[in-house]
Amino acid sequence: MGMVIAFIFGMNTKTNILSVLSKIELLSSLKLAVVREREATSTVLEHLGEIERRRLFAEAGYSSLHEFVVSELKYSDAGAARRIGAMRLSVQLPEVKHAIDSGSLTLSNAALVQNVVKNAKKQKVVLPVPLLTLAQTAMNCSSRDAERKLRTFLPDVVSTPDRVRAKDADHSVMTVTVSNTLDEKLSKLRARHAHKMGAASLGELLEFAVDAALTEKQPRKVNATATVSAPASELQYRSEKKLTNRYIGVQLKRVATAKAQGACQFVSGITGKRCNSSFALEYDHKKPLSQGGSTSAENLQLLCRTHNQWKGTKVLAPPFRV
Ligand SMILES: [Zn+2]
Repeated sequence: MGMVIAFIFGMNTKTNILSVLSKIELLSSLKLAVVREREATSTVLEHLGEIERRRLFAEAGYSSLHEFVVSELKYSDAGAARRIGAMRLSVQLPEVKHAIDSGSLTLSNAALVQNVVKNAKKQKVVLPVPLLTLAQTAMNCSSRDAERKLRTFLPDVVSTPDRVRAKDADHSVMTVTVSNTLDEKLSKLRARHAHKMGAASLGELLEFAVDAALTEKQPRKVNATATVSAPASELQYRSEKKLTNRYIGVQLKRVATAKAQGACQFVSGITGKRCNSSFALEYDHKKPLSQGGSTSAENLQLLCRTHNQWKGTKVLAPPFRV
């Protein structure tokens, strides 16, 4: 057996070495490799759990753990989703970790259970059985069987995952599950704009609706908590009405947004990476008003929700060591 282990670790430079193994040795070597792979996966999940607990992905300049896993660790979108879902389920249930380690629960089935639980919570549906029972339902079976069995417990919660695949250089084919309400809304949209769009396809309707949504003013939320006096240099931005420093005027917002180029300005002190996310942007006072900061172009920045929350947590109680 010792010889087989040596072969496994020497495979990078001796790829043909497997060809001299006996059938028994080759099978043993493969099984050992799978054990090592599971151990490595388990270690990866543990690390991801700790990264999420500390929100270290945010400090490293990413707006989500998923983005961190895809961009920094080079996993595919689906691979990242499997690992993150499995990690979150195993954080709640130690039994899940053991099941993943032993191979009785695949990452994709663990992630499926986690997704079902998340959807149930979002839809305010109470789980009809304990979480452990749901997880056990997904053990020792294929993804399709797990999905089918989970559907018997929560028929309206288990959804088919969205899929996007390339069709040609300019088009993708998306498979998504939508509510009947959305279907009706799309029909109304098609009818309302039939005079200029004709019999629009679903893709054309979606692009029209998304374009309309993207032209909405961003960001929407003002993050300010205190009132202090403003520097005279900023009074040019505040001529419309009587204002407090809590208020960020339209022109000041334009200046801040242009300076940020419409993206999160958080720069990681660890990696030097700028976040650049355009998701849920909020205005932030670099130096908080409560600490003497002003509502000025120099003191305003755009942060995505993740980094605004991360900054708030850090200011209140810096809990972790870098
Ligand atoms: Zn950000």
